[in-house]
Amino acid sequence: MVDLKEKDLESKRRVLIVDDDEINGDILSAILSDAFEIRRAYNGKECLDIIHEEHDVIDLVLLDVMMPIMSGIDVLKVRQKDAKLKRIPFVIMTSEKEIEKECFLLGANDFIKKPYDNPDIIIARIARMIELSEDKSVIKEFKKDKLTNLYSFEFFKKYCHQFDIKYPHDAKDMISIDIHGFHLVNELYGRKYGDQVILEMVNIINAYIRKVSGIAGRVNSDVLAVYCLHQDNHDELANTLNEKIKKMNAHVRIGIYPNVDPNIEIDIAIGRAGATRTSIKDINNFVAIFDKEAQDKASFNEKLVAAFEKSLSNKEFKVFYQPKYSIQGPKNTLSSAEALVRWFHPEYGMVSPGDFIPLFETNGLIQQLDRYIFEEVARQMSEWHEKYQRYIPVSVNISRVDVFNPYLIDEIMKIVAKYHIPHDKYYLEITESAFGVSDENIIKLAKELRSKGFKVEIDDFGSGYSSLNTLSMIPFDVLKIDMGFIRKMDSNPKNKEIIKLIIDITHRFDAISVAEGVETEEHYKFLKDSGCDVIQGYYFSKPLPALDFEELLKKE
Ligand code: C2E
Ligand code: CA
Ligand code: CA
Repeated sequence: MVDLKEKDLESKRRVLIVDDDEINGDILSAILSDAFEIRRAYNGKECLDIIHEEHDVIDLVLLDVMMPIMSGIDVLKVRQKDAKLKRIPFVIMTSEKEIEKECFLLGANDFIKKPYDNPDIIIARIARMIELSEDKSVIKEFKKDKLTNLYSFEFFKKYCHQFDIKYPHDAKDMISIDIHGFHLVNELYGRKYGDQVILEMVNIINAYIRKVSGIAGRVNSDVLAVYCLHQDNHDELANTLNEKIKKMNAHVRIGIYPNVDPNIEIDIAIGRAGATRTSIKDINNFVAIFDKEAQDKASFNEKLVAAFEKSLSNKEFKVFYQPKYSIQGPKNTLSSAEALVRWFHPEYGMVSPGDFIPLFETNGLIQQLDRYIFEEVARQMSEWHEKYQRYIPVSVNISRVDVFNPYLIDEIMKIVAKYHIPHDKYYLEITESAFGVSDENIIKLAKELRSKGFKVEIDDFGSGYSSLNTLSMIPFDVLKIDMGFIRKMDSNPKNKEIIKLIIDITHRFDAISVAEGVETEEHYKFLKDSGCDVIQGYYFSKPLPALDFEELLKKE
């Protein structure tokens, strides 16, 4: 672990000399400049300005008393009311006993006498004063994080600055590391286990920063940051983290911002590495490297999140309905629809769900949005029922995050009761990508939904996470074959066999098979011949605004 006092970061502390007398200031500078980095100010106001400049970390102030514009006494008075200023030791330069007393009462830390006769003593006293103040602020500000013994976030930023001073001419990298869905790890295995996962990461990181020369800090719960000398790549760190953490049933995400721009503030560098990290959505990817595109995406995501509440109350989220057709009868008939959300933002235009659903899944907004969609669909179904005396079945999508909501069923029950929707017309699509994380929850959810008379669809079946085993455990009414099989049907004929197999399995479970993403006549014919029950796709229709879908209903 690197410490400020350890050799590795032994950099010169900054002393600000505040004196309107040039010659006096020059003499002091000459005495101190070997041991300290010197800054100069010529009156009290300049002194405060320099300290308040964000980037100027001043470690000690040598203050003259009599100065134009703002005197030393007035500076001390300002300092008394300012916690940040109080942390910096102020040493007063004076020759008058009376003033010494007044300054002391105003909180001055020490005095040196004009004229300066013993340079060594002055240097030693200033060094001691800085050391004391650093020890004090360390105790005050919790320099080290308790769990990990890494620097706390505030200190990490400070030491990044020290690191820059120590290596002024070397390029540096900022790395941001966390655990994919850390709250899930805590929920599933308990907090203690979550802590162990973090500690394992810390061990690996510590070994790495010793090797490449760097420092590490804890940004918040599972987010750790590394600031180190630039490396061609950080594969060693990334691969070790990935392997070790995988063994603990968790997945790391690593965002790297290489060659940190020395002109930006450290907060921004940490933010860039962080945004790069959170751009990783897929647990099979664990490293991302900052680029302009990622940066733009991250700031667009921020805008979307900020816009959410207002858009929801302004009803900028619209439900589109994509028709599903039964194709095994003598005539293809409109059987049902899938509700798909669209966001029409006055400034950003139409935002596609592929862009905001995964984002809203990371911050919980998806639950609010889905609740809104659930209700909007129920309202629409009852409106159509009034007009056409028909309840057209509609499926809504349940996000993988909804699966963890213990009140989900109650909420759905309330909504369908409010609009008098028969439960067997309300379908819920559970995506297969939710499987594998909390199968027990999903099994329970599916069972309860069905016991209340709702229909359960398994969405995106075969996209990767589940096995045939899951099918035997999760009760379902409809199985939607993942679009990927249809897409790759022509390039790989084996996919045709898999599609036939899934249709067959679905029928053995007395369920209905749905193929989505069907675009061509050829695909449609193949699916019909293979016994697929229902088709959803551009071949029949794109998702439609409610009014356009209603036209289809009228025709039926
Ligand atoms: P999904 O549930 O698999 O929905 C099917 C997606 O395929 C939709 O994309 C639909 O527009 C698209 N699609 C349908 N037929 C075709 C076709 O023939 N060709 C092609 N290329 N695409 C077709 P969309 O509307 O962009 O939605 C993307 C995903 O966003 C959905 O995938 C679903 O996971 C999620 N989503 C959409 N609306 C909601 C919602 O209200 N709540 C939640 N939680 N997720 C939603
Ligand atoms: Ca779906
Ligand atoms: Ca799907």
